[in-house]
Amino acid sequence: MKASFPEIARAIKQANRIVILSHVRPDCDAIGSQLALALSLQKLGKEISAWNEDGLPESYRFLKKSDLIHLPPSEAEEFDLAIALDTASQARLGTALRAVRHAKLWINIDHHASNPGYGDLVYIDTIAPATGQIVYEFLRSEDFPLIPSAADALYAAISTDTGSFRYANVIARTFEIAAELMKSGVNAAAIAKKLYESYPKRRVQLLGQILPQVTFDADDQIASMSLTKETKQRLKIQPDDIDGLIDYVRSVETVVVAIFFEELPEDRVRLSMRSKDDRVDVNKICSEFGGGGHPGAAGARVRGNLEEVRSKVLKRVFHEISKSL
Ligand code: 5GP
Ligand code: MN
Repeated sequence: MKASFPEIARAIKQANRIVILSHVRPDCDAIGSQLALALSLQKLGKEISAWNEDGLPESYRFLKKSDLIHLPPSEAEEFDLAIALDTASQARLGTALRAVRHAKLWINIDHHASNPGYGDLVYIDTIAPATGQIVYEFLRSEDFPLIPSAADALYAAISTDTGSFRYANVIARTFEIAAELMKSGVNAAAIAKKLYESYPKRRVQLLGQILPQVTFDADDQIASMSLTKETKQRLKIQPDDIDGLIDYVRSVETVVVAIFFEELPEDRVRLSMRSKDDRVDVNKICSEFGGGGHPGAAGARVRGNLEEVRSKVLKRVFHEISKSL
């Protein structure tokens, strides 16, 4: 059963030691939501830890006070309360989950349709385009503190999960929240510059390596990109350098489904998928490969080598497109 904001607020007020977690390979919605909630609860006088398996990615260091987000400690710790944000399954917390030896209560706040509802107090709003939007509504409706660096973090979270307020997940309330955040002092252009015009040079070099290998299938309705371990090592690529590269093929007019294949160690492939047509649900497809996400943006980690996984996944997407369009 869905918990209410007042119930979640009550649980937070009753706790002292609180850990705030989010998913492996965190995107800006994960980090921004973690940071905003952590700053708010700190202001309430709580003892806060904020952990992520991958720590704080380089590209989000511009967010003030983001050094609050740490790698999980090697020695597990106990808490009164653990809060998972933007994390579709508990397993996606990765090593951050293992670092929580025990928490008296678990809260799960998310916007993924594939979230099974783990935890004691569950708040899943699949209409919210970003977990940052839910965190904003929560802080405002429960009259929790929202300091300027938290407002920046929430604006960044919402901006990135909506593709700069462009995707079909945007609702009117999203623009109202963006306006409210700006009225409270958020500099939207400064954040956009940090998010979209401050990439390291190696990201463009990486693009130069992978664009020549882009493939188009099904009358150019499927586009896919692949990244090998070798290229990652040679260009010293960080996980967050890869975020958003899929948009280069997604932006092609004929493309309905864009796919990114990233070769991982130990014969595993990270799959990232986008759909531009609501008749093709990539969450459904990725769930079949053990992952999940949203109808328009989903992912999975699949066992097998790059070529095997590529051909299996392309075949599956081809089938879905032939059936649905
Ligand atoms: P991305 O392709 O940007 O990594 O992820 C797109 C969406 O799918 C995000 O909302 C992300 O949380 C979700 N997602 C990505 N990979 C996985 C996965 O392996 N498992 C699940 N359950 N969700 C994923
Ligand atoms: Mn999200």
